[in-house]
Amino acid sequence: MDVHTKKQRSYNMSRIRNRDTKPEIMFRKFIWAKGIRGYRTNAKLKGRPDLYFLAKKVAVFIDGCFWHQCPDCFKAPKTNKKFWREKIHQNINRDLKTDISLKKQGINPIRFWEHQVKKEPEECYKELLQRIS
Ligand SMILES: [Zn+2]
Repeated sequence: MDVHTKKQRSYNMSRIRNRDTKPEIMFRKFIWAKGIRGYRTNAKLKGRPDLYFLAKKVAVFIDGCFWHQCPDCFKAPKTNKKFWREKIHQNINRDLKTDISLKKQGINPIRFWEHQVKKEPEECYKELLQRIS
């Protein structure tokens, strides 16, 4: 077993993970600068929301445009089509179930697309503000 290769691989994987969480971190910084407080980032709720405003019972999800099939940016992969289609449909179904289950608990879910957070953070912030005010 080549330890070095293994290390390198886990380094690469952590880089990929970091890239995946970037919109969420960006948005957190953005709303923090606007003075938004009172949320948790690791709330143990269904669907593991990116932000959870405990007092307001608002759960914020930032959905990856690929993984959740954004109508604006999603492009189906050219290879392993069946695999990806099933995988992404599972995600979408899980999102729907998550929203229903949260609403049953009196929690209000908000979903932003990754591209919205990247391109229009101000709009996302305004929408969030309305929901938590
Ligand atoms: Zn998108």
